[in-house]
Amino acid sequence: MNKNTELLKEIKLLYVEDNEDSRESTVEILEYYFNNITVARDGEEGLAFYEKHYLTTNSYFHIVIGDIEMPNMNGVEMCKRIREINPGQLLIMLTAHDSKEYLLQAIDLGIDKFITKPIIGIDNLIVPIMDLSKKIMLDVELQEKDFLLKQKNRIIDENVFMTVSDLNGKIVEISQAYLNFTGYKREEIIGSNHSVFRNESANLKIIKNLWTTILADKEWTGKLKNNKYSGEEYWISSTISPLYDINHKKIGYTAIVEDITNTKRLESLSITDSLTEIHNRRYFDYSLKKDFKSATWRREKFGLLIIDVDYFKDYNDCYGHVKGDKALKIVATEIKKYVNNSVEDVFRIGGEEFATLISNATDEEVKTIAQDIVTNVELLEIEHEKSKISKFLTISIGAINIDGSKDCMSNEDLFNLADNNLYKAKNGGRNRVVFNENTDSIEKLKNLDIITKLPNRQALIQELSMMQDESMLVLLHINQINSIKDLYGLEKVGDLVSQKAKQLSQIIIDDNVTLYCLNMQEFAILITKERLFDKYLALLKYSILTNSDENIYHPDDNNYLISDFTAGVSYGIVNIFNQADLVLQEAIMAKKNLIIYKNNQTTLELQKATLNRLMVYKKALHSGNIIPYFQPIIDVKDNSILKYEALARLLTDTDEIVTPYYFLDSAKQDNTFEFFTKQMIQKVFNVYAKKKTDISINITYENISSDSMRDYIKNRLEKYGGDGITFEIVESEEIKDYELIENFILMLKEYNCKISIDDFGSGYSNFTNIIKLNIDYIKLDGSLIEKINIDKNVEHMIIALLSFAKNANIKTIAEHISTPELDDKVRELGIDYIQGYLYGEPKSPEHYDIV
Ligand code: GH3
Ligand code: MG
Ligand code: MG
Repeated sequence: MNKNTELLKEIKLLYVEDNEDSRESTVEILEYYFNNITVARDGEEGLAFYEKHYLTTNSYFHIVIGDIEMPNMNGVEMCKRIREINPGQLLIMLTAHDSKEYLLQAIDLGIDKFITKPIIGIDNLIVPIMDLSKKIMLDVELQEKDFLLKQKNRIIDENVFMTVSDLNGKIVEISQAYLNFTGYKREEIIGSNHSVFRNESANLKIIKNLWTTILADKEWTGKLKNNKYSGEEYWISSTISPLYDINHKKIGYTAIVEDITNTKRLESLSITDSLTEIHNRRYFDYSLKKDFKSATWRREKFGLLIIDVDYFKDYNDCYGHVKGDKALKIVATEIKKYVNNSVEDVFRIGGEEFATLISNATDEEVKTIAQDIVTNVELLEIEHEKSKISKFLTISIGAINIDGSKDCMSNEDLFNLADNNLYKAKNGGRNRVVFNENTDSIEKLKNLDIITKLPNRQALIQELSMMQDESMLVLLHINQINSIKDLYGLEKVGDLVSQKAKQLSQIIIDDNVTLYCLNMQEFAILITKERLFDKYLALLKYSILTNSDENIYHPDDNNYLISDFTAGVSYGIVNIFNQADLVLQEAIMAKKNLIIYKNNQTTLELQKATLNRLMVYKKALHSGNIIPYFQPIIDVKDNSILKYEALARLLTDTDEIVTPYYFLDSAKQDNTFEFFTKQMIQKVFNVYAKKKTDISINITYENISSDSMRDYIKNRLEKYGGDGITFEIVESEEIKDYELIENFILMLKEYNCKISIDDFGSGYSNFTNIIKLNIDYIKLDGSLIEKINIDKNVEHMIIALLSFAKNANIKTIAEHISTPELDDKVRELGIDYIQGYLYGEPKSPEHYDIV
């Protein structure tokens, strides 16, 4: 029995027929389909059964089937009477060919179905009944659904915090529960914006992120601080989802809100010191790291005060711990008075030690805050008879205020400098401030690597730029640092780099030879006296590159020379950094431990190198080991990060990262270039999908010329959206068909992408053609930028390019900014955005926390 006939079992029938034969045979058929049949023998009995059924069950038969001609009361009359009782009753009339007279009346009455007698075949009878039954079941189902829906709505309304708003964010519906919780009346809320709930300290960035997310038709979840009608604050976790109508057209948003005030309270407890109710040490460590880092980013001043109570041990000994605790509380409250919460914060960092962090204040301001605190604590007149310097309890402060734009130091350096000053304040007689007396040590820290305290990349670049004599440069790459990082964590990498630095500095002892630490995996040795070249080449070959250390992780790959380092060496005056780097990359890929840069390689050597490159490249490509690294692009206005440029890297089978100038040419010459680009694009979108960080992707004219590539890009944009995506089109002489580019840009604009022209000014520029394109940025070629301070012609050319861009209303980006001098120069010339080592190296997405 199928679903429809199953449904009929539920139906209640009243069947009225006077002819016994006909009745019996029909009932026999009906019984096969229906469970609930009441049979009457004439109209009068039919009507009586109908009334009785209603009285006993308080419901009507679903369908009444009546013969048209019957004694006592004919079918039409019976139906008429039934309809008087229940106007909605479904009626079926059995008619014979000769009952024309009644038939007209029946039609007038609006009988639902007619069945002609004699009944030939089951379908003549069952199909019409089934039609009506379906209608009944549908009604029943709808009623049930409606009932459940109403019930659900009631439960939601009474228990769930919910709002519904229109596309502009105007609230059109709010649950009773949320009204009860917030204390508002419905009419106060309907028609207004969600900002009626919001606390005045609401973070605008969060709100902005909320709108960007929901406008992109994505669900948004986040935490917000709100106010009740009474002004009481509460924290919510809110999930906002788009609301669609039946045609899938977006009509508004629903917000489901959860009260998380208690969780937040617990969180705040864990950062608060229970005795003094100011922030604790844990939060100090966190804030120091975070605030100091952002001060460095924003190139602002950053101040730290370390405050220590004088002779407090004696105070405890004399007055007892309870009074001691009380004094600490009073002192904490007093310190807090001089600190403005929005830019400064106070912490209890030890038993009787406090600290404050001060962002972006002048030296004078920091000194004044510190001195005010010292003066006013003594004025509290907390008696301290054991103090050797005052009748009252006093404090000492060590203060510093460093320049985030110049000084390179770690959190520890910063703390130690302030602590040193505190030590001086204690020794100088206590109850005083010692401020910034360590300028020498700060100056020294500037060009030092934070971890190893060796001169850093910037120091090397400075040295190279001033170099007069033929020199030798060794770049040392610590092998398999990525595996170590994955296996043991970043801290272990720090330890290892420090250990290697120590070992190397024991060997490198000559004057005219300097060891640098360039980053977490590269050292450099610069030898500026020719007579020492051979000595250092020998040292490199027989000591540094053969000295294997047990602590280092080695792969089981027998082909891999087990050495701690891979080296690239080059000789000369100019360009030796790039040359050494090039051979270093080559050595890493070829798994050799040393390659020396040669100006005149033989054809055979060149061929071998090219072939090897191609092999390593193809292997990586087919194992999915072409990966994006990311480099920040900074807005000069506030040094915030505008977006990241995705740069291709090759991951070798020994987990080394190789930069593209080594393999990109191979890729371009090989017919796999499109596959390569797609692999990059997909991986970039994987990152983009996580946090919707703005990213810029490089694309060549060759890529754009390919139909399948354009389709691929369109398809990816369709899937992931293009709101935060910039395409950087490389300027090149190949560009022949500007219309092709124009159309490609039109397609990208449909997805809200931005367009940048890369390597602008590198010689191929066709200004007239470019200005016609609808582009947003031009990126000035790095090789030009590097010469801006050296070559007046270059400077003039850049000034011209910038004014060209300004007139065309196009924003400009300067790349390869690696020194403060270059940075100052491009800012002075009015560039809009900056990219370079000075602000951030290309790193994994994890490093920049964008996945
Ligand atoms: P100085 O002027 O050199 O700072 O001398 P000091 O005695 O203040 O310094 P020291 O570091 O020798 O002693 C710190 C004392 O602070 C030790 C301990 O008795 C007291 N102390 C530390 N934590 C608490 C606390 O939570 N409550 C109380 N009452 N005393 C504390
Ligand atoms: Mg102390
Ligand atoms: Mg003390």
